[in-house]
Amino acid sequence: MHDHHDHDNELDEMTARVRALETVLVEKGLIDPAAVDAIIDTYENKVGPRNGASVVAKAWSDPDFADWLRRDATEAIASMGFEGRQGEHMHAVFNTPETHNLVVCTLCSCYPWPVLGLPPAWYKAPDYRARAVREPRAVLAEFGVTLAPDTQIQVWDSTAELRYLVIPERPAGTEGLNAAALADLVTRDSMIGCGVAKRPGAT
Ligand code: FE
Repeated sequence: MHDHHDHDNELDEMTARVRALETVLVEKGLIDPAAVDAIIDTYENKVGPRNGASVVAKAWSDPDFADWLRRDATEAIASMGFEGRQGEHMHAVFNTPETHNLVVCTLCSCYPWPVLGLPPAWYKAPDYRARAVREPRAVLAEFGVTLAPDTQIQVWDSTAELRYLVIPERPAGTEGLNAAALADLVTRDSMIGCGVAKRPGAT
């Protein structure tokens, strides 16, 4: 059963209601649209993905936890306090030199909220949803990710039932870093598969 979808169709009822409500509140001077944008940015880019980054950092530094993530990502992630709506059934996919994982929701915009926050606009766009499947290597290149020609790309199609978290490869030169420093290297995009983890010292 495919019971939930966050359709990106602007005419859907919930979007129309939210737009109307926002318009009225702005017109009455009750909210500042820039403040709304700042809040969305916070949940898309800052608060949300920091949860996932701490999961990745733990997987990098604790082999038992990494095994647990492979076996039962939902439970392993919940053990860190990250659970709830849109994260009930998680699957962690680990990048290796042989295989790069990329996540999409071809049908709509299913996304693991407890670990990544709100999906970015491009994740919900028809262009990404179609092209991630048809030409993933070209899409990755546009995100600045160039893989070795013999690296396979595995594309995972999210559904209401199953959400994916990409565990990017641990960058070289990170042996001495603690969990917080490791988490700082983990970008949101790297956990969708549209990026790689930063190297230490990179901006
Ligand atoms: Fe979806």
